[in-house]
Order: sequence, then C-alpha cells, then structure tokens
Amino acid sequence: MAAILIAEDEPRIAAFVEKGLKAAGHSPTIARDGREALDHASSGEFDLMVLDIGLAVLDGFQVLEALRGQGSQLPVIILTARDSVTDTVAGLEGGADDYMAKPFRFEELLARVRIRLRDQGGAQSVQLTTADLSLDLRTRMVSVSGRAVELSSREFALLETFMRHPGQVLSREQLLSRVWGYDFDPGSNVVDVYVRYLRNKIGGDRILTVRGAGYRLVT
Ligand code: CA
Repeated sequence: MAAILIAEDEPRIAAFVEKGLKAAGHSPTIARDGREALDHASSGEFDLMVLDIGLAVLDGFQVLEALRGQGSQLPVIILTARDSVTDTVAGLEGGADDYMAKPFRFEELLARVRIRLRDQGGAQSVQLTTADLSLDLRTRMVSVSGRAVELSSREFALLETFMRHPGQVLSREQLLSRVWGYDFDPGSNVVDVYVRYLRNKIGGDRILTVRGAGYRLVT
C-alpha cells in the first residue's frame, strides 16, 4: 500500500482516480489546488503524486518546480490534456517521472503508478493468483492450470480487475470505468463482449453472470 497524492481540481476525475487507487489497495488523498498540492507533497508523507497541470493558485509546472527546488525526489506522474502533450513534455524539463494524456484508462495510470513505486524500491506484489488462474503483472503472462494463455491488453486488464476482486460481483459500470475509462459510453455492451472473449480463453465456467448485477470471478 502506498500513500498517493492526487492533485486534481476536476471532481469527477479526482474521484475516479481516488476510487481506483483505493480498489488497488493504496491510500489516496486529494488536493484541489496547486498550493494544497505543494504543501502535501512537501510533507514527506507521500510515496507518489499524480499531478494535473491545470490547477488554480499554482499550476502543475509551478508545483513541480517548487518541489524539485526543495530537493524532493517524490515520484510525479503528470496529467495533461491530450492536445497539449507536446507543450507539457517540453515544460517538464525532466522534473516529472511520467505523464498521462487525458482522457485515460485507469489501468494505464495504475500501471505507471506501479512502475514508479517499484523504482522507489516499494515491495509491490507482481503475481495475482485465484484458484488455478495466475497472472504476472510484470511479464503480462497469464496461466490457467499451468497452461500459458495469450490475452490482449484489454482482456488482461479485465482479468486483472476480476482477480483483484475475487468472488465479488462487479457491475458493468465498475468494469467499464476500471478497464475502459471514465469517458466510455455507459450504454456500450463492450464489457459483455470482452467477458465472452475472456471465457473463450480461460474457460467458460470461471466468470459467472449474475443476473441484473454483473459478473463474478469464481474462486
Ligand atoms: Ca485541471
């Protein structure tokens, strides 16, 4: 578990990231403007910061500059609008560890968070196991009863989400926001389609349909 600071003034995105980080076992805190972000980031109580560029009082660039000016090595992942990625990368001058263009899928952000935490020497679990399913987050290898199975990145993210919540019923909305991102059309049947793909690859009886509620991974 890592203490992660989310500096983001858009409540919907802040809540989306917070919810996902909690589900992944981390302890997130939200800062709503640049001043608050800098105060928290300077406290030494955080393992990583997710930093939006467009913040009030101080923007993300100013927060990062002040933080690095204090000699802080806190890992920072920048969030930026897709159409200003070039400016952002130019403006970072090596002060940030990584960046994500909005909109993004939560699993993409989580993968980057993991890498940054691992770089810091954090003891991150890289292997998930449920019954005879095993999934290696580092090598992206999946095995079923010891047999290697090839999954697309979306299928992998979907299975990972199930394996982080074994036995729990996950709604289509939860799966959509975890695997496809907050901007995905909630009326889409993409979850059902990918559950079908996954069943074809790992065995049809491992993911149960719970009528009117969603899906559940058999433990
Ligand atoms: Ca913003």
